[in-house]
Amino acid sequence: MVLKLFNTLTRKKQPFQPADGKRVRMYVCGPTVYNYIHIGNARTFLTFDVLKRYLRYKGHEVLHVQNITDVGHLTEDDLAEDKLIRKAKEENVSPLQIAGHYTEAYFRDIERLRIERAAVNPKATEHIDGMVRAIEELIRRGHAYEVNGSVYFDVGSYPEYGKLSRLPQEQLLAGARVEAREEKRAPMDFALWKRAEAGHAMRWPSPWGEGYPGWHIECSVMSAQYLGVPFDLHGGGKDLIFPHHENEIAQAEGQFGKEFARFWLHSEFLLVNGEKMSKSKGNFFTAKEVMDRFTPEATRFFLISAHYRTELNLTDEGLAAARNTVERLQEFIVRLRSVKGTKQGSEMMKLIASAEKGFAEEMDDDLNISAALSHVFDFMREANALIQAGEVSEEDASAVLDFLKRLDSVLCVMRFESEQLPAELQALIDEREASRKRKDFSAADQLREELRKRGIILDDTPQGPRWKRG
Ligand SMILES: [Zn+2]
Repeated sequence: MVLKLFNTLTRKKQPFQPADGKRVRMYVCGPTVYNYIHIGNARTFLTFDVLKRYLRYKGHEVLHVQNITDVGHLTEDDLAEDKLIRKAKEENVSPLQIAGHYTEAYFRDIERLRIERAAVNPKATEHIDGMVRAIEELIRRGHAYEVNGSVYFDVGSYPEYGKLSRLPQEQLLAGARVEAREEKRAPMDFALWKRAEAGHAMRWPSPWGEGYPGWHIECSVMSAQYLGVPFDLHGGGKDLIFPHHENEIAQAEGQFGKEFARFWLHSEFLLVNGEKMSKSKGNFFTAKEVMDRFTPEATRFFLISAHYRTELNLTDEGLAAARNTVERLQEFIVRLRSVKGTKQGSEMMKLIASAEKGFAEEMDDDLNISAALSHVFDFMREANALIQAGEVSEEDASAVLDFLKRLDSVLCVMRFESEQLPAELQALIDEREASRKRKDFSAADQLREELRKRGIILDDTPQGPRWKRG
C-alpha cells in the first residue's frame, strides 16, 4: 500500500515515496529556545514524530533534521529586538545562556513525550558562515540587494513568490509590513541579514558589516546543508506557512535554481478550552505543565489521537479520557501476559491480521490516526472477549503482544518492560492467594488491606491475582 500525504504546496493528497526510493530526508522547523515549549509546539513536534515512526513502520529509513533557533527571531511588533535577547534582558543573563538553558529544557520535554530526537539538531549560531555564503550567492544571482549594512530578498525577482501560501497580494503585503523598513526597495522584500545597531547583543562579522541573520535564512541554509536539495519533506506548524516557509522557498530556489522540498506538511492549531492559546486568557500551558498533571503518555496520546490537519481542542476531560485509554492499554498488556491457556485454533490470528491491515490502511490515508486507532480499540474489545471465554492460548497472547509492540513503534504510549515487585510484596500476594485458596477469607482480606496501604491494588481474575500500583 502506498502512503498518501497532503502536500500544502499542491493542496492535494499525493502518493509519497522518498526520491531515492529508500531514505526519507525530512526537515522540521524546531523551537526558538527563549522559553519552555508550549503544548501547541508539542502537538507539532508529535505530528512529525508519528510521521517519522510510521515511515519506519513502512520500511523506510528516515534522516530527520530539526533546527534550534538560537538567534534572529524577531518579535511581531519590534524591529530591533528579538525574543531571545528580550528574554536575556528580563532574566539578566546572556542570550547564549538563555538559549542553552531552554535547549536543554526542550530536549528534556521531548524525551518525556517519547519524541525521538532528530539525527541532527543544527543550531543557527553555529551556521552563520553558511548563511553569509548563501546570501552572497543570492546577491550574485540578482535575488538580493544590500542597503546600509542590511541585505534584503528582492521578491520581484522571484515570480513564483506566494505559491505555498496562495495568499492574495493584499495579505502578502500585510504580512510583509511587519518588518517594513524605509530602506527596502519594495514592501514585500524581506531581510536576509540585518545590521546590528549599537548595543545589539548578538552580532557577527559579514561582508556588509556586523550584523545577524534573519530567521528564514537559517532554515533554508541548514536544511540544504544536511539534506541536499530537493529533499523529500519539509514540515512545521500551520502558522509557519507564511511568511516563514514562503520565504524559505524563495531563498532556496533563488540560491540553487531548483526545487527546494518536494512535500510540505503542516499541522493544525491546538485550541485550549475552545480558544486560541494566549497568556492573557489564562489558557496558556507549557508541555511540562500538562505532562506533570496528566502523565507524559496521556499527553502524548491525547495530542496524537486526532488527525494532524484538524483543530484539536485540549480540555481536562479530554486529557483524563486519554489517561484512561492509556491505562486500559496497559491493563490489556498485563492480562495478555497472564494468559496460560493451551487451546489451539482460536480466532486471534485472524483478528490480528484484520486489525493490522485496518490500522495501516488508515495511516496510509494521510495519517488518519483516529480511524486507525478505532481498529485498535475494536481489536482490543474482541481480544478481551476471547480471553474472557478462555479461547486464547499462551502462543496467541504472545502474538498479540508482538502486534501491540509493532503498533507502539508508531504510537509510543505503552510500556512493555514488566515491573518486578520487591520480593517482600510478592510474598504478601502469594500468602494472600494461599489464604484465599484454603478459604481463610479474613486473613486474605487483611493481607489485601496491608498491600493496599503499600500502594498495591489487587484484582482477582480467572487467571489468578493481578496487581497494579494505586
Ligand atoms: Zn524554519
